[in-house]
Amino acid sequence: MSDKYSRRDVLATAARGAALAGLGGVAGLLVIKANKTYAWSIDAGACVNSKLGAVGVEYCELCATDCVLTLSAIRAVNEFSKCGRCYICPAYFKITSAVGPDGLPSEKVCPRDAIKREAIGWIDPDDPANNFYEYTIDEKLCNGCGRCVMECKEPAGLGSIRLEVRHNVCLDCNRCSIASACPEDAYDRGPLPAT
Ligand code: SF4
Ligand code: SF4
Ligand code: SF4
Repeated sequence: MSDKYSRRDVLATAARGAALAGLGGVAGLLVIKANKTYAWSIDAGACVNSKLGAVGVEYCELCATDCVLTLSAIRAVNEFSKCGRCYICPAYFKITSAVGPDGLPSEKVCPRDAIKREAIGWIDPDDPANNFYEYTIDEKLCNGCGRCVMECKEPAGLGSIRLEVRHNVCLDCNRCSIASACPEDAYDRGPLPAT
């Protein structure tokens, strides 16, 4: 974890959290969110799952397992402007799995079936490989495990999927437990990005 935010920010947030603890759990958290000006974020270029050159290594799933929330505040995001809308997306299909009767790999990468695949635009019914496919992440299901991010990288993918902190869910812990565990120092805390 980087320590780029000031000690005063940390102490101010801690003091506010301590005061709000007296107000009671949920109500207190809602006030913290309403007043939130600082937030944790992930440097996608530093995360091992999206880092160029980190091919053939095991994905890191600490973003899914180390959040204090039961369903982590981290989600995968597919940046459509970078996505190739491939017929066989390596982040959607486990490309090493056996080919099924439909000519497609029989297994998927996502263990939570959170990625939806849909043909878009003009559709050629006789040649599915000639169509474009949109891959969207269902944020109710995704837990930020990073598997799809790791697979969507060159040479097989285009690097269009990354992990992001969902600021409407994140509790903005003073010491984010994922940031403390992150082996790549990919977490930082700074001013809340404008929406
Ligand atoms: S803990 Fe760090 S390296 Fe691991 S998935 Fe999260 S951001 Fe990436
Ligand atoms: S990060 Fe994990 S849970 Fe989320 S869409 Fe990718 S593979 Fe599925
Ligand atoms: S700050 Fe807390 S709630 Fe937010 S991602 Fe980190 S551990 Fe999860």
